[in-house]
Amino acid sequence: MPDLSAPVPTSAALPAPPAVTPRLWPSSVPVLIAGGGPVGLALSALLARQGIASLVVEADDGYCAGSRAICMSRRSLEILGWVGADQATVDKGLPWVGGRSYYRDAEVLHFRMPSEPGERFAPMVNIQQYYLEAFAHEAALACGQLADVRFAAAYRPCATTPTVSA
Ligand SMILES: Cc1cc2nc3c(=O)[nH]c(=O)nc-3n(C[C@H](O)[C@H](O)[C@H](O)COP(=O)(O)OP(=O)(O)OC[C@H]3O[C@@H](n4cnc5c(N)ncnc54)[C@H](O)[C@@H]3O)c2cc1C
Repeated sequence: MPDLSAPVPTSAALPAPPAVTPRLWPSSVPVLIAGGGPVGLALSALLARQGIASLVVEADDGYCAGSRAICMSRRSLEILGWVGADQATVDKGLPWVGGRSYYRDAEVLHFRMPSEPGERFAPMVNIQQYYLEAFAHEAALACGQLADVRFAAAYRPCATTPTVSA
């Protein structure tokens, strides 16, 4: 039985975006990215590396909390590698190549994913999604002013010109 008396991690244990001083909103941006999840943050870093400025608006006030991704595929790591966020992910996570499932004492599933010696990444790395977001965010910020990420700011679609409210 799981130990239900064990303390539940609080949000204080999660990585948090670096503190920023209040900034004016740009009057226009080449690319507006609605959502600072793994995709939005990695996209911002990718665009910045191509010299393209973007503004990410994330409705939440920090990285994701609660039950989200825990297994990152080799392909996701390859993409993170394009912005230099792969090593931090590998260092923090737990790489694995196979799994076993049991029903009581009986093994009911045993699988191994394709993996050759010398491959850059394991087929899967176990790591909480909020770390992935933090590493992708760091990669975006490392590109200087081309990547602008704002939390607690939601995109609201409208009929004419898109607007962002903080
Ligand atoms: C329980 C669970 C387990 C999962 N397990 C895995 C797994 O093991 N491996 C795996 O690869 N994937 C897993 N996934 C899927 C994975 O979480 C998603 O594929 C991933 O989060 C998608 O990233 P994203 O950046 O596209 O979207 P999201 O992570 O959903 O990010 C979207 C962001 O947009 C923000 N947003 C929404 N609307 C607005 C708005 N109008 N303005 C501003 N911001 C807005 C949201 O707050 C959110 O932060 C799991 C998902 C769940 C729910």
